[in-house]
Amino acid sequence: MSTAIWGEHEPLTTVEKYPLPLLKKLLQEMIRQFGATGGCIALYDENVGLMNIRMHLRLRNTGPTLVGNSTDGDTASFRRRVTIDLSNSSSSTSGRMKHISQSLDSDSIVSVEKSAFFPIGATYSPGQDLIGYAWRKNEPLIIRHEDYLVSLQSTEQKLFPQDITPAWYLCAPIQIPELAFDALNRRRTTAVIGVVLLYQTNYAIAFQQKHRFEAQQFSERIALYILNDQLRHLHLRTMDYMQGLQQISTAFPTAVKLSNLVEDVFQFVTNVVDVSSMLLTFYDRDTRKIYDVFAIDSGKRNDLLLEQPVVDTPDSRPVWWRVTQEEKRTLLLTLDSQEPENYSKYEELLKGTWGDQSRAETFLLLPMKMFTRVVGSLCLTSSHTDAYSPEEILILETMVQIITVSIENAKLYDRSRQSLLKAKQREESLAAMYSALQVISTVLHVTELLQKFVETVANLVQAEMCTFFQLSTDEQELVAQAIYDTTGQWRDVNQNTNKDEKHNDLIEMIRLPFKGSILEHLVEDETFFYLDSTMVEELAQASAEGGVIFLRETHIQKMLMIPVRYQMEIVGILAIHTPHSNRTFRPEELGALLAISGQAASAIRNAQLFEQIQEAYAELQHMDKLKDEFIVTASHELRTPLSAISGYSSLLKRQSGRITPQQIMRFATKIGSATQQLSDLVSNMTEAAKMGALDKKLELQLGPVQLLTAAEIAATMLSINIEQKITLHIAGDIWLQCDAMRLRQVMTNLLDNAAKYSPPDGRIIVTGSATTLSKLPEDQVDYAQIAEGFDLPVALVRVCDEGEGISSDDQQKIFEKFVRAPRSLTTPIRGSGLGLYICRRYIEAMGGRLWLEQSIPGEGSVFSFYLPCIDPPIEKSMDDESE
Ligand code: ADP
Repeated sequence: MSTAIWGEHEPLTTVEKYPLPLLKKLLQEMIRQFGATGGCIALYDENVGLMNIRMHLRLRNTGPTLVGNSTDGDTASFRRRVTIDLSNSSSSTSGRMKHISQSLDSDSIVSVEKSAFFPIGATYSPGQDLIGYAWRKNEPLIIRHEDYLVSLQSTEQKLFPQDITPAWYLCAPIQIPELAFDALNRRRTTAVIGVVLLYQTNYAIAFQQKHRFEAQQFSERIALYILNDQLRHLHLRTMDYMQGLQQISTAFPTAVKLSNLVEDVFQFVTNVVDVSSMLLTFYDRDTRKIYDVFAIDSGKRNDLLLEQPVVDTPDSRPVWWRVTQEEKRTLLLTLDSQEPENYSKYEELLKGTWGDQSRAETFLLLPMKMFTRVVGSLCLTSSHTDAYSPEEILILETMVQIITVSIENAKLYDRSRQSLLKAKQREESLAAMYSALQVISTVLHVTELLQKFVETVANLVQAEMCTFFQLSTDEQELVAQAIYDTTGQWRDVNQNTNKDEKHNDLIEMIRLPFKGSILEHLVEDETFFYLDSTMVEELAQASAEGGVIFLRETHIQKMLMIPVRYQMEIVGILAIHTPHSNRTFRPEELGALLAISGQAASAIRNAQLFEQIQEAYAELQHMDKLKDEFIVTASHELRTPLSAISGYSSLLKRQSGRITPQQIMRFATKIGSATQQLSDLVSNMTEAAKMGALDKKLELQLGPVQLLTAAEIAATMLSINIEQKITLHIAGDIWLQCDAMRLRQVMTNLLDNAAKYSPPDGRIIVTGSATTLSKLPEDQVDYAQIAEGFDLPVALVRVCDEGEGISSDDQQKIFEKFVRAPRSLTTPIRGSGLGLYICRRYIEAMGGRLWLEQSIPGEGSVFSFYLPCIDPPIEKSMDDESE
């Protein structure tokens, strides 16, 4: 049994393989019995594959000058005088030998530590020198010194050591008797495990033929001693193993760390057998994966594996799978050239994590069985043939059984620890959810709340991105309202976490199609769902730019979508994912997300309502302020004509007797115009009140109206009261489809304003031209009106004045109800702030737009509007044709 060739620890088997002290005694006995001068024993060294002289004994005081009668050292003279005599048998020598041996005590035979002749440590290959010759011959032989010299090379003759010159040699191979193999149940081998060599310096006392037989018997005894000693060692080691096994089994399940376990296995295995490489593999039924967790390749340990095992699937290791999971047996392979099929058949087992083992001599696979299941394997190789005996395999199997149970225990322990950990995590996530909910339900500002919401959700499930989309009012799209992103990709959008408009504008550019898209169907049917990359691409194709950027550049592989509902009504969708990740959320995570979404829905609704109320309240306050202003204006506006009316009527009353008809006419005209002013004001106010909310549809009486006529009527009516000159540039063939009265009202209003806010000598010019919608300024076009391939014909009317103009701050506001540009109280101009509001509503109701095209303070303004054009009525065109 050779020692382990690696590992830090001192294996039990470092003891000498051969029982040298015992062999020494046997050799002494042989020297005595055969009347030899000395002898040596060479033993097989399997590490080098040579016979190695392990001991050399000789009679004390034996040397070239002390022993023998032919000691002049002249080898040539030896050859002349001595001939080989292998057949010679003389009974007289044995008697003499007996006599000599009797006279020898143990002190007279000593170890020759430094002999030039068969020195200790010298090695011999088969056939080399006497030792090698006996080894190869495999039978005892007697040889005379001269013949031995002849057999040696001539160079070696010269170098022949001179410390002693033997006359005769007796050589016997040491071989384990066949019977012993049977008894031990081992593979038979004819291997010679050593050679014993005796020599005699006295020519007179030659070895005899019968000594060959006796020597053979001796060498068998030696072999048995060796075997016996090996068995004794085996027994001792078995005791050690048992102790080791006991240690392993008592060490668990406390030593649940895999690294400790592997270390113990490793130590144990190296104590039991010779190992050059080792591979420990586990199979996990839950994941259906094979893990190589520990490997030693020719003595080199791969400690990295414990941290990062090599993971395989059963499909990629079919041979391992067959041997462990189907055959479930210990597999012992001899990998010598006589069984080449073992290489090809089991090549998969001999390669991989533990390097290339195909050069090993013996391979052993021990399945790790747990009842009928196999949970892994331990593979070993050795560079020696037949390295693993049946008893050793039995011991290893027992060990593997113990560690299997331990590993399963460790796993169970780990599992219970994990479930404890999970319970703790659940507790923590509940606490996190509770505090998240608290945060959410206390925030009343919608933007802030949504931002908190996405942040909380992302943190709760450790997702890198979370986005909240809200359904647009027309339910066509989903509009992003808040993004939480730890990847930094949307940092620009995300940075402005305050409530400023820019932030919202940027985020709100991310829009996903909803109506008619996959989202609509999924939202309807599912409490949650995942979007995969194909669905994401499908959505991207139907999205506008912002949506495309979001969907394509956020690296979505799989995104969890949770519809957020408030009493069956969709508030929005929560989208959670980690870029580049294919993550599926665990049921408990989904549970938490659904719970928090449900809570968030009502919080969002509350916040939205709160904001609406606040907006309405602000609007109310604004209206209240306008109303106050209006009352001031209106009372002034009402009082001016009223005081004129009451003044002139009381004048009429007072002077009724002496008043001239001309005077009556003048007073009546004054009263009439004041009444008209009053009635205009009242009708404006009632009109505005009637219009009510913006979305209220106005009742119109549509028909063909000639633009020029409408303008002329308005201008004529107004010219009575104003000083400015009105010029009309309108073609007579422009006809509109609209409400004639409302159009006149709009024209009157615009002309009235132009006059009111202009100096008396200012010119007022009205132009009217036919054009099409696409030629109008872009920001004034309602593109919904342009059908594909069809451009709408329209009439564009512009009212230009040279008046005071309107400051840019006021340019948009003037179209609102009751809004008037602030004006110095010293030059008050009558008005209610309703005119432009009413005009715009009328024009829009008739399918057009009205806007302030241009206004420069001190230089003048241009108000423009367009209305759809129609062809002139037929009667009219027929009239034209007849002319
Ligand atoms: P009103 O003229 O009765 O005040 P409008 O709604 O017609 O109400 O006009 C709103 C405000 O717009 C006016 O108060 C005035 O400040 C400004 N405005 C309208 N038309 C003109 C114009 N042609 N030139 C200068 N300012 C104008």
